[in-house]
Amino acid sequence: MPIHEEHLIRPEDLTTHDNLVLDGVDVSGHWSTFIESRVVTDYNEGLEDEISALPGGEYIHRCWQCGSCTNSCPVYSLHENFNPRFWIYLIRMGMDQELLRDKDIIWQCVSCNQCTYACPRDVNPEGVMKATAHWLELKGHTETSPSKHFDEEFTDQVVATGKIEEGRILRGFFRRTKQPLLHDWMIGMVINLIKHFPIKILTAMGLATFVRPRTRNWASARDAIKEYVAEKNRKHRKALSLTELTEIAAHELDDSELNK
Ligand code: SF4
Ligand code: SF4
Repeated sequence: MPIHEEHLIRPEDLTTHDNLVLDGVDVSGHWSTFIESRVVTDYNEGLEDEISALPGGEYIHRCWQCGSCTNSCPVYSLHENFNPRFWIYLIRMGMDQELLRDKDIIWQCVSCNQCTYACPRDVNPEGVMKATAHWLELKGHTETSPSKHFDEEFTDQVVATGKIEEGRILRGFFRRTKQPLLHDWMIGMVINLIKHFPIKILTAMGLATFVRPRTRNWASARDAIKEYVAEKNRKHRKALSLTELTEIAAHELDDSELNK
């Protein structure tokens, strides 16, 4: 596997002259590769603190950039721009504009936790990926990702009933992501289930699709979980200054309406 290299010099920042002679020396092609000058002045000094305030990001400060996370990552082996080590570097440096260039692939982490086992510093890179995807959504840089939709559907169901029922979760996930209910793979899976599963289990699964199963006396646990989640959400909003950002955006909207 190639080493986990990913750096800040992007191909679009390189210029090569096909025909160039300098002081009588032919430096055409590769020999005349120049790097566009680049000055970063807008470091986001609060970025690391914001990511570490979200669940999973707490230990990002421990990273020493060894790259074991990226080298062990199965998504990286398929997609060389998927690079947890590099994103952790950008976050710690406060380079949010660089991070935003990869905003549409960060959520693709499949939570296999290979990186977590490989990390010698207990950074929990998988958690950092989740926290970063969460940060991107909370800050309005990305739409809610499919994996977040799935997590929310799963969590809503557990909180509401104290149980999970796979068929309902899939239906809810398809509804949230505006996908059709029937997929070829699903029809194949159901046919296989009917062929191979005992009738007793199939009947229970079918019933659970129509009658929502619930844990007995779940109400007090449900209320406690909701209270805890609301408290956590308030803390996250505060850490990311989301309330202030919303107010600023509302003021700007009012001003632009008045100036019309
Ligand atoms: S948890 Fe995510 S980042 Fe870590 S190895 Fe798996 S896919 Fe890669
Ligand atoms: S394995 Fe851990 S210490 Fe090494 S680069 Fe990844 S997060 Fe940092």
